[in-house]
Order: sequence, then structure tokens, then C-alpha cells
Amino acid sequence: MLISDLFQKKNTIYSFEIFPPKPTADVSAVADTIERLAALSPDYISVTCSAGGTGNARTAEIAKLVQKNGIEPLAHITCINSSKADVSRTLAELSDNKIYNVLALRGDRVAGAKESEDFAHASDLAAFIKQWGGGKFDIAGACYPEGHPESPDLLTDIRNLKKKVDAGVTHLNTQLFYDNEDFFRYRDMLALAGIDVPVQAGIMPLVKKAHVDRTIALSGAKIPAGISRMISRFYDKPEALMEAGIAYAVSQIADLLSAGVRGIHLYVMNNAYVAERITERIAHILAEVNKN
Ligand code: FAD
Repeated sequence: MLISDLFQKKNTIYSFEIFPPKPTADVSAVADTIERLAALSPDYISVTCSAGGTGNARTAEIAKLVQKNGIEPLAHITCINSSKADVSRTLAELSDNKIYNVLALRGDRVAGAKESEDFAHASDLAAFIKQWGGGKFDIAGACYPEGHPESPDLLTDIRNLKKKVDAGVTHLNTQLFYDNEDFFRYRDMLALAGIDVPVQAGIMPLVKKAHVDRTIALSGAKIPAGISRMISRFYDKPEALMEAGIAYAVSQIADLLSAGVRGIHLYVMNNAYVAERITERIAHILAEVNKN
């Protein structure tokens, strides 16, 4: 089913994001995770792709595995290192397998790497996918409640986001954030800018030391006092960090659901246990907000 049709049917969508195993790893490295995630009945599972050359091939392979488990896949496609011919091949493979939900991304810049001559921005990719598929692909896009790091300011970023939506993006998934007030303010700004497609809130539970280090270094997300306290107290206490990280994510999601968010997109980092614990804790709230 197309995700835009799901948004017509449900008040609030609940989804997970996973990443494919390394090119050399056996697919069984994620098969068990996907089976356990599928048992939680999310509305869809998205599969990331590396912005490098071979990433998209593995994305399609894992998206097919998601589909086999009875869950709708959303395949990420990056364009920063891709030509129109590369993207056409990916779209043909997805289409041959009846995978019609895609997330159009520019991908992160790699210092010194040659960039695409065909696509400068995700909006160029979205327009290409729309035209290539004659409308059969449902195209999602990324957005940034605290602004994209390359943007001079949030308003400029939102003006650019409008171009992406005008190019054919029908729903948005946010970058991770830890302060819901940033999301609420952003949601209002998008409404004022005439961006009226559904926005799913991206939640990344901070449950492991390695994630804490990577997330803080790479995302540039603001770290509220509650998260700082949790990290400094439990950084070297794996069980406590796991519990505290899950608890923080659950309270963040409960607040977002209370405020009428259109969707929660959980960055599960291929950790089915974390997804199980969080899903169990929010199940009644999710059921309530989806009552008509
Ligand atoms: P764009 O929308 O092109 O925006 C990039 C920058 O260019 C922004 O500063 C924007 O303001 C500006 N801009 C956009 N359009 C224009 C325009 N027309 N004119 C001038 N400026 C413009 N990366 C991966 O490599 N693989 C993944 O699978 C992946 N999945 C992601 C999933 C989500 C939900 C999110 C939020 C991010 C993901 N990323 C992924 C990271 C993403 O690729 C990076 O954040 C990247 O730097 C920007 O991608 P974008 O699609 O948002 O780019």
C-alpha cells in the first residue's frame, strides 16, 4: 500500500528504520531482526542506503525481505553520487518487485568525492522519480526541525523544503531530535509556509554508549538537560543506560502522540529488543489516537 494512502486512513502512523548489513555480510545478519520487527505490526519499515555507489543494491534486497515478512517497505534512494541511469536502475528493480514507496534523499557530502552532475538536491531526485514512474511511486523526503546543518538558517531551509514538496514529496520524516518543543515550533512554521503534507517525528532512542557518541557527534541535535544528566550518570552502565534511554524515548513519544503528531518513525538501529520494549509501552496510546 502507498504510504500516502495509509495517511488518509489513519490519524497516526508508526514505523521503523533499519540499515542493510555490510556488502560482505550474509543477509541472515538482519533476517531475524526484520522478523521480530514485523511481529510488532508497524505500518512500514524503511531501509537506509549508503550514499556510495553500491548502497542502493543492498537497500532493494533488504526492502524485499521486509516485504516477504508482510510489512510495507520504504526504500531510501540517495543521489549525491548517482547519475540518472543509476537511479533508473534502482527504480526499475523496486518497481519489478512492486516496491513503490521511496524516500528521496540527497545523501551526505563526502569530502573529496565527485558529486552527481544530474542531481544537486533531493528535490531534483524527487522530480526525476515522479516523472520516471509516471506517478506510481509514493515519494517521501527528509526534514530537519533544528535546520539542516548546511543551511544558513531555519527559514532558508524551510523555503528549500517547500521546493522538495512542490517537486512531488507527499510525506516527510524528520531528523532525530530530543526536545519536542523544537518539533512543535517547526510544525507550526511548516504550516505557515504552506507545507501541508504529513510529518512523522523521527525518534532515536539513546540506549548504547556507541550510539550516544555517534549521535551527538554526527547529528548536531540539541541535547536537553534530561539527556545530558542521563548520559553523564549512566554512560558506563549499559543496563541502566538501556532502561533510561528507552524511558526517555517513551515519554517523548507519549508527548508527541498527545499533541496529535501524524506519525512516529523510530530509528531502531537494527535493535529489535528496543523496538519491542518501546512498542509495548506505547501500544495503548497509539491505539487510542487511532480511534476515529
Ligand atoms: P536536500 O533536501 O537536498 O537538502 C540539503 C541541503 O540543501 C539543505 O541545507 C537544504 O536547505 C539545501 N537545499 C535543498 N534544496 C535546495 C534548493 N533547491 N536550492 C538550494 N538549496 C537547497 N543519508 C544517507 O546517506 N542514507 C540514508 O538512507 C539516509 N536516510 C535519512 C533519513 C532521514 C529521515 C533523514 C532526516 C536523513 C537521512 N539521511 C540519509 C541523511 C541525509 O542524506 C543528509 O541529511 C543530507 O545532508 C541531506 O539530505 P536531504 O535529502 O535532506 O537533502
